[in-house]
Amino acid sequence: MRLRFLGTGTSFGVPVVGCNCPVCQSGDRRNRRSRHGLALEKDGRVLLVDTPTELRLQLLEAGIDHVDAVFITHPHADHVHGIDDLRVFSLRGKRAVPMLVAREHADEFRARFAYIFDDSVEPDPATATPEIDLRTFEAGDDLEIAGFRVRALAFPHGRVRSFGFRSGGLGVIVDAKEIPEVALAVLKGVDVLVINALWWGDPHPSHFNVEEALAAAGRVGAKRTYLTHLTHRLDYSELLAGLPDNVLPAFDGLVVEIDPARVVR
Ligand SMILES: [Zn+2]
Ligand SMILES: [Zn+2]
Ligand SMILES: [Zn+2]
Repeated sequence: MRLRFLGTGTSFGVPVVGCNCPVCQSGDRRNRRSRHGLALEKDGRVLLVDTPTELRLQLLEAGIDHVDAVFITHPHADHVHGIDDLRVFSLRGKRAVPMLVAREHADEFRARFAYIFDDSVEPDPATATPEIDLRTFEAGDDLEIAGFRVRALAFPHGRVRSFGFRSGGLGVIVDAKEIPEVALAVLKGVDVLVINALWWGDPHPSHFNVEEALAAAGRVGAKRTYLTHLTHRLDYSELLAGLPDNVLPAFDGLVVEIDPARVVR
């Protein structure tokens, strides 16, 4: 299984529009962070995690020409407002794209994108909307989707919960402020962990800072951990130098191979 980081930034992205800070002005492409998205690839099949604002650009950059299914972590704008870019796949494949959304987010999600999900919204005949087969799940569910086996996990994220998962040797935690014991038990000892981190210091009410992410990663005990959902307060090289050997900053376009044989516990 291959993990591809499509976007590794927070909701503002990096560079931030109009910002003159050294990271936003940096020539290092690893300091260019679009909004959060991942692609899992296995046997020619692709599972997207989130449909972020820059989805079309990310897919072009990664050379991804089809998507078999989508897992939505939570309906914050930066994670879902690229949903319309799925249109090309449902039009070309002439079938709805399966999309997994947590049951507790489904109503808000359907309402947010009423033009897609509400049949009473009259479409303009001259326009096309993405065809999406919306399916719901609960925390702890074992999901089989597009050939990927995924154990869904919930994480506190301010007023909502964000959903991550374990799939084989991979654990994904996005927009979390805490790892509940039940999720920790499932994630323990993964080969590769993806976890969110905003910046050093200044605790945030709904996101890990780097210190908290490192402590959480230590509890999971992954062989390798990648930090994502990074702000412009983190320069790639400086961050890398400040991290333990088995923790690395992710960057847009980074590809990681993961042993698919590891069983979900
Ligand atoms: Zn900046
Ligand atoms: Zn969020
Ligand atoms: Zn976010």
